[in-house]
Amino acid sequence: MTETVPVLVPIPTEGPYSYAVPDDMDLAPGNLVQVPLGSRQVTGVVWDGGENAIDPKKLRFIVEKHQCLPLSDDMRRFIDWVAAYTLSPPGMVLRMVLRAPAAYQPETPIEGVVYTGAEVERLTKARAAVVELAKDGVAWTRSGLAHAAGVSTSVVKGLEKMGVLKAIQLPARPIHSPPDIDYKPVELTDDQKQALQHLEENMNQDEFSVTLLEGVTGSGKTEVYFEALTKCFREGRQALILLPEIALTASFLDRFEQRFGTRPGEWHSEISPKMREKVWRQIGSGELRVVAGARSSLYLPFKELGLIVVDEEHDLAYKQEDRVFYNARDMAVVRGQIGKMPVLLCSATPSIESRVNVNLGRYFHVKLENRFGDAQLPDLAIVDMRRDPPPRGRFLSPVLSQKITEVLDRKEQALLFLNRRGYAPLTLCRVCGHRFECNNCSAWLVEHRFRKQLQCHHCGEARPVPEHCPECGTLDHLVACGPGVERLAEEVLEAFPEARTIILSSDMAGGVKRMRAELEAIAKGEADIVIGTQLVAKGHHFPFMTLVGVVDADLGLANGDPRAAERTFQLLHQVTGRAGRSGGKSTGLLQSYQPEHPVIQAIAGGDHEGFYEREIESRRLASLPPFGRLAAIIVSGQDRREAESYAKSLRLCCPKNGEVRVLGPAEAPIHLVRSRYRFRLLIHAQRSFDLQNWMRGWFLTAPKPRGSVRVQIDVDPQSFV
Ligand code: ADP
Ligand code: ZN
Repeated sequence: MTETVPVLVPIPTEGPYSYAVPDDMDLAPGNLVQVPLGSRQVTGVVWDGGENAIDPKKLRFIVEKHQCLPLSDDMRRFIDWVAAYTLSPPGMVLRMVLRAPAAYQPETPIEGVVYTGAEVERLTKARAAVVELAKDGVAWTRSGLAHAAGVSTSVVKGLEKMGVLKAIQLPARPIHSPPDIDYKPVELTDDQKQALQHLEENMNQDEFSVTLLEGVTGSGKTEVYFEALTKCFREGRQALILLPEIALTASFLDRFEQRFGTRPGEWHSEISPKMREKVWRQIGSGELRVVAGARSSLYLPFKELGLIVVDEEHDLAYKQEDRVFYNARDMAVVRGQIGKMPVLLCSATPSIESRVNVNLGRYFHVKLENRFGDAQLPDLAIVDMRRDPPPRGRFLSPVLSQKITEVLDRKEQALLFLNRRGYAPLTLCRVCGHRFECNNCSAWLVEHRFRKQLQCHHCGEARPVPEHCPECGTLDHLVACGPGVERLAEEVLEAFPEARTIILSSDMAGGVKRMRAELEAIAKGEADIVIGTQLVAKGHHFPFMTLVGVVDADLGLANGDPRAAERTFQLLHQVTGRAGRSGGKSTGLLQSYQPEHPVIQAIAGGDHEGFYEREIESRRLASLPPFGRLAAIIVSGQDRREAESYAKSLRLCCPKNGEVRVLGPAEAPIHLVRSRYRFRLLIHAQRSFDLQNWMRGWFLTAPKPRGSVRVQIDVDPQSFV
């Protein structure tokens, strides 16, 4: 009898497949293996659990066992857990782990040279310089040695030919040396010391716990958790720091280096394959002690992880809505639980979920009430746009304009926040009223004037702005409706022609590099007025900023999303929190047409606790998350009728249960995306209900989707469009 093992492969199937083990191969769960799959080969992982009966004639042999470290028990349990919770195929979760193919092979050693002691023929100055350095017997790379000696590599190669140096294999060096906890500790304030002490009391390196570190913007949360990291490092454990935005990591890495004398490994979509390989390998071997990265870094195979920090834990960027729908904040807590380690959630505006978990005693709560040093939170005020409206066709009220003038006079910095990319959200023909709409999506095209394009923000389709209206043929016909950041910039340029203005929006040409450069320029005070989308709202430290004007504070309150109030509160609080971070008086102005709205009132009045109390109570009454559970099913297809009828048939076969309600299918608010018609079902259940189990049963009996129809499941949805 041939021995078989279950192997999980990174494709969307229900579970592992059985494979035959060659006689000379010794395997254990967690081993990475190369297996045939259809006509190709893939890397899979030997999994746990029993075997499926399989026709011996169909059984195929494992091709190769990779020599890299196996995936740990914890990691395999984590993968299974995420798959079960998100109702995703485990293979698709595994795919997020297997993101560095080169790292499964033995590492290619680096070629280096060492001194042999042989005599140098014709001792030139250049040769002498090289020998002088190499004499102590330390191995060098060729280019490193040449560079240090100030000569060209040909000199080094010449000496090698002569036998004075000889080639050797050097082990690859760690990307970063381990953090030095004594490198440059900061003197914490009394408040901060107290917070740190609480943290350390709560957090035991080998015990699962969750602590919410809540502190107003600029209170020194980062400084405090840096000190908490030292405990983890001292106990010989690795740490993971999750950050919501790549643009943030650059300044974060610098800050970390200032404190610990070395940089953390980086992990996000922008790093090179070579770096990806190194980080994956060295996190597994333990050479790399700390990683700062995007949500995907949760799936790195840490050797001895001892602490996970989730910075800006409320941030929507933690939610992945693609293939496996998951919230990295929640999965970080799960990983902490499986791996028995503390998890630290940080925010100035925690999610309602985390606050409720504090109230229920599941999470510890540590607070920082004051800003560091003499920095004060900005004075906030509402500009009632009904009383102080901007001039026709303009978006800045006289009140805000006046404040900007004052700030410019004082040579300080102002931020104008508008969460809308492009020139205008809607463009139409002045003569016939034709609206420019995307061909693939039910969405207006957004004019981008800098690029002279009309663009769809859902599928990215872009076309040049036409000279003539496609409907009535009128020349020079476009009218912009409403403001985007580009239009606001135009207004600012007209009103404050002398000011140095920077627009910060995720879609500006130049990508991440330019974004980082501009964030740096702003921090150095190289701009007077910053116009930005939500990108500027997050965690940045802008020491010269003393005014934040929110151009449209109402934006986002109107949509039917159950989290609209929470989101708006968080965003407005974060963005106004960019002002006054280095002392002195600062101001935040909220332009609003509904100044009496409770969210606007709570922000302006600084009534943080009041907001949380009311919002938590209203969630409780409606039994919305976290008091009830939600899941969404999105059915899409190229043919509208096909998609709709599948969604209806799904609804018809759902198992009856008094504890759960199914709403829909309804046409999605954005009913067409990338030429696919979309329908949504929403499932609402009691907190204690085993939603996943019920849904699993449902999908077992449901008809399989046919043709172009696709089904996506979103447990704990954050988006409802
Ligand atoms: P948060 O993460 O809460 O927004 P930060 O940790 O970024 O706050 O701190 C805000 C600013 O104050 C940073 O520039 C930080 O370096 C500085 N800061 C905070 N605490 C201290 C401290 N104890 N000593 C020196 N600087 C501090
Ligand atoms: Zn589109």
